[in-house]
Amino acid sequence: MSVRTRIAPSPTGDPHVGTAYVALFNLCFARSLGGEFILRIEDTDQTRSTVESEQTIFDSLRWLGLDWSEGPDVGGQFGPYRQSERMDIYHQHVTELVDKGHAFYCFATPKELDDMRKEQMARGETPKYDGRSLGLSPADVQERLDDGVPYVIRMKVPEEGSCKFNDMLRGEIEIPWAQIDMQVLLKADGMPTYHLANVVDDHLMEISHVIRGEEWINSAPKHQLLYEYFGWDMPQLCHMPLLRNTDKSKLSKRKNPTSINYYREMGYLPEAVINYLGRMGWSMPNEAEKFTLQEMLDNFDINNVHLGGPVFDTEKLDWLNGCWIREDLDDSEFASRVADWAINRDNLSRMIPLIKERVEKFSDIAPLLGFMLSGMPTLSEASFEHKKLENDMIRRVLQYSAWRLDGLRHWTRDGLYNELNQIALAVDLKLKDFLFPLFVAVTGAPSGPPLFDAMAILGPDLVRARIRHALQAAGGVSKKQLKKWDKEYQQVCANREKHPEEQA
Ligand code: GLU
Repeated sequence: MSVRTRIAPSPTGDPHVGTAYVALFNLCFARSLGGEFILRIEDTDQTRSTVESEQTIFDSLRWLGLDWSEGPDVGGQFGPYRQSERMDIYHQHVTELVDKGHAFYCFATPKELDDMRKEQMARGETPKYDGRSLGLSPADVQERLDDGVPYVIRMKVPEEGSCKFNDMLRGEIEIPWAQIDMQVLLKADGMPTYHLANVVDDHLMEISHVIRGEEWINSAPKHQLLYEYFGWDMPQLCHMPLLRNTDKSKLSKRKNPTSINYYREMGYLPEAVINYLGRMGWSMPNEAEKFTLQEMLDNFDINNVHLGGPVFDTEKLDWLNGCWIREDLDDSEFASRVADWAINRDNLSRMIPLIKERVEKFSDIAPLLGFMLSGMPTLSEASFEHKKLENDMIRRVLQYSAWRLDGLRHWTRDGLYNELNQIALAVDLKLKDFLFPLFVAVTGAPSGPPLFDAMAILGPDLVRARIRHALQAAGGVSKKQLKKWDKEYQQVCANREKHPEEQA
């Protein structure tokens, strides 16, 4: 059997370093064995999936040199490779499961299920679907369907015993069926869930090995059961250790930038990022710290993956990136890479209008535009001293803005003005005062070129990282405080929505 691996990202946000990490190991595993690595887009969550996010996944993986031989943008004989284009296939397969008695219609309303869970929790039980629609007769089911009662389709799960499956790195894993819920396969809106679509596609796309993050281990029993119900062989499973922050918690954007674009925009070399990701849980037989993708491929053995949580430490990445820059770029290549990165005509043309009015000679440019070509500004609590705003408000402005901007898809000058002005009104601050902490966060100084234009040019990855950095410099936020602010933030946003007429 030929080796075929895949990554199956959901296009719901920024392209994550975890996606690149899993892609790298899938690619190395398949190609080192003469197989194929493919890319499938799992966009069944229609409310969160976007074409922009899909495009940034393609762009950022290609920037890293991770290419696929089949995918939505390159085609292939097992397409379509975008799940939203495969609806008929899922409906056909879920119907097959119902017909064979492995899945059933469930008509319970969201409120009913909510009450069920609350009662279970009150009894100290782990909330779980209790099988209430299992007892319906075929006639009952038909009657409800004819009446147009909304439904989902769930899979049946054994009540007793346990599921055993093999993981390439961990050996046999056993999970009691009692812990497994009767998973929804088809949602009320007619969309398949991840579990159904993923299993059907892995089978139809002839995936031989599923290499994915360890957060999916608990889904394996459901998947194994689905393979059994369909009468298919299950691909071999391999769950990669999760990337971690330096404090060993799961890599999160609150503690570390997680978007591949951030690393690109900060001026890391793709070779160094790939090299660093390759060292996450894996090492070269000769323990070399610096290696190319080709060298990794030539020496790849999945059994050399260690399970201890690999720490994604940007300081180590900085060191490695420095080695790559110094050792592998001659001066001419250095110049071309810097030009490709940001110091080029296109980028300058976008920045010039921001400062033209204030320039008397070209040597005035660098001090005004330095922040556009830098990483994180050097800040301390003193950088945020302001005659009207207390430190608590400074940090709140930064945190609220971070939340607001997290949800903003299109970064334009007007869009940014709109979003931030809304929060300024909601917290009852003059826009000028409200923008003070953001000026400091983004430009490193209390004033400078027009902020919204600068933010639009810098883009979400750098601006969000600078806001997080500023928040730390201004004193940070404890978990408890964050919870409290979250409540207040929801409240002020809700109030604004109730009184939109006051908007400036
Ligand atoms: N769509 C899932 C994700 O977003 C795929 C998980 C898997 O590889 O099975 O990561």
